[in-house]
Amino acid sequence: MAALAVANCRRPQCANPIPAALAAERLCLGHFLDEAFLRADHTLDRCREGCAINASELEWLLADALAVVNNLDDEMAQPDPEMRDRMLELLLILANLQEYVAHHSIRLEYLA
Ligand SMILES: [Zn+2]
Repeated sequence: MAALAVANCRRPQCANPIPAALAAERLCLGHFLDEAFLRADHTLDRCREGCAINASELEWLLADALAVVNNLDDEMAQPDPEMRDRMLELLLILANLQEYVAHHSIRLEYLA
């Protein structure tokens, strides 16, 4: 019985399985990290430039992405060393972002 089909990553031409921690994002670990890096870098740049930050984007980064990385850490007994490095790097960027938000007055914009 294949009642519980394991979905694959939603990116075109990616057949990698989705880890449980990423079920909501429907991305494999590699693609999730790509996306999280892009979004974190972009948001951090906007913070430093004094631009308004999209509130839901910030929340996604500081709540969802952070939770995902923490869950993945528990889920993977023996993570791929390269993936592990990238996860740690992402955690560092998210920590910088959190720090920045805590110590600077940033403008949030609330879009739908
Ligand atoms: Zn993928």
